Amino acid sequence: MASDRAVVTCPACDLEEAFEKLQSARACIERHRRETGHDPAWDLAPLSSGVERAGEAAGVCGIPGSADDIVDGE
Ligand SMILES: [Zn+2]
Repeated sequence: MASDRAVVTCPACDLEEAFEKLQSARACIERHRRETGHDPAWDLAPLSSGVERAGEAAGVCGIPGSADDIVDGE
């Protein structure tokens, strides 16, 4: 289950964060909701089927390395 991936996006502010753990993604959503009142959502991105995402990923230079900003140790 540790290989599950989720990308959290928010239509209200273009938030986009990728997480390796669903728990971290969920925490990000809850925190963002609390802090901004926005309504972010997540897209699951299974590692075993990245073909469909290839086109979408082609337009992205890289994943923002801001995941470390999220403290999910609690
Ligand atoms: Zn937002």
